[in-house]
Amino acid sequence: MTTFTHLTIAQALKGYRNKDFKPSEVVADHIKATEQLRPLNCYITETPEQALAAAKASDARYAAGTALPLDGIPLANKDLFCSKGIRTTAGSKILENFVPTYESTVGQNLLDAGVAFLGKLNLDEFAMGSANITSAYGYVESPWKRTGAEGAGHNSPKLVPGGSSGGSAAIVAARGAMGATGTDTGGSIRQPASFTGIVGIKPTYGRCSRWGVVAFASSLDQPGPFARTVEDCALMLNTMAGEDPKDSTSARIETPDFTRGLGQDIKGLRIGIPREYRPSGLNSEISALWDKGAAWLRDAGAEIIEVSLPHTEYALPTYYIIAPAECSSNLARYDGMRYGLRAEGKDLTAVYENTRAQGFGREVKRRIMIGTYVLSAGYYDAYYRKAQRVRALIARDFDEAFKKCDVLLAPTAPSTAFGWEEKPTDPVEMYLNDAFTIPASMAGLPAMSVPAGLAANGLPLGLQLIGKSFDEITMIRAAAALEAAAGFTATPTIMAA
Ligand code: GLN
Repeated sequence: MTTFTHLTIAQALKGYRNKDFKPSEVVADHIKATEQLRPLNCYITETPEQALAAAKASDARYAAGTALPLDGIPLANKDLFCSKGIRTTAGSKILENFVPTYESTVGQNLLDAGVAFLGKLNLDEFAMGSANITSAYGYVESPWKRTGAEGAGHNSPKLVPGGSSGGSAAIVAARGAMGATGTDTGGSIRQPASFTGIVGIKPTYGRCSRWGVVAFASSLDQPGPFARTVEDCALMLNTMAGEDPKDSTSARIETPDFTRGLGQDIKGLRIGIPREYRPSGLNSEISALWDKGAAWLRDAGAEIIEVSLPHTEYALPTYYIIAPAECSSNLARYDGMRYGLRAEGKDLTAVYENTRAQGFGREVKRRIMIGTYVLSAGYYDAYYRKAQRVRALIARDFDEAFKKCDVLLAPTAPSTAFGWEEKPTDPVEMYLNDAFTIPASMAGLPAMSVPAGLAANGLPLGLQLIGKSFDEITMIRAAAALEAAAGFTATPTIMAA
């Protein structure tokens, strides 16, 4: 039996301060939950000893009255964040033996705030994917089961948690951790949050340091939090964010207290509804939920304004040029010499080739090939340079829209979670999962997903809020209002018990 796994971060901090219970008890419970939830395959590496040691130190600080901001909170860390002395695989075979000698800045910020990390979470290989099925460490199972006509109760097929931060989303939804780190390049925090009924924030590009986060597409990658409430995500972001001299793209901007967005009314807030996010084929349940979300915010005092983002349809194809281009360059470092796997070969070239052939999975290889192609002489102007220009147009669309509104409301994902066996076999169909999340990524804007309801098949659906650059607080303000109106209390079938 676990007693404390239902607590939110805010509730746990309050209980610690009131001496109702201690971090070591709460963390021990979460270690038990980790064991119970092993069939979901959320973790690549569990670190219970480190978590317990951290919790003991937290106990002592609460007793001494010197507690840190997130002291004793059990979290888990996506295995894309380098962790000192703990294997970091990025979900790839090529890094199966990689033990970093340093901690990522975001990870260190959380450790310095007193958190207890339970382990390293499964993910799509190098964060490339939307279903956590490209990991070299196996699929992650969502704790949710489908109900109703499509696959009643226990007959539900095993579902994907979304990706790439699939382990993060699944473990938080299943009450195995109070929160988790994620990274979002084109939707990898928001889409899995939507699939699993939790909250996930992709901050403004540059808000959280990328230092020590294994790179996928450097101009898009952004760390952010997962938790079960908007408040908990704001609390985590307070600690995760901050300027970092080790990351030249980290923003020279003060970190505000993101919880300032909570508990405010939204009277007069202008919510933009981007017309282009309602393509003719949009799932009718998602379309209806989006309308409902807008009505909730209107009832809470906001003004609803239709806006246009005319280049939306080009975001996805543009992303699938820019992200693979950057990935092909970033992944050139895995040559068998410096990190992880090294395969034998008759000469140096053969070692490189064999290492990369054996170490990378199919999706990663596909992207390296696309990226190398679009960057090659003769094609660079036609693809890569053009994509950069379109990216600028997409960003400009948002600038124009934000002259008329303060926050945008849109769906997060075009469907509920799909089954392991129902996954699209066509990679382009899989890429369509990110049609609603990619535009904000291209513009570097903050965006988040809030659970808003259940579809007829019993699975969660999120709504997405997109904010102005570095205005996470207004986005969080709208998200808190949405969360309150939606009153999402549904829980997954598989949970820590
Ligand atoms: N699903 C998208 C991709 O495969 C986005 C992944 C991400 O945000 N890391 O690239």
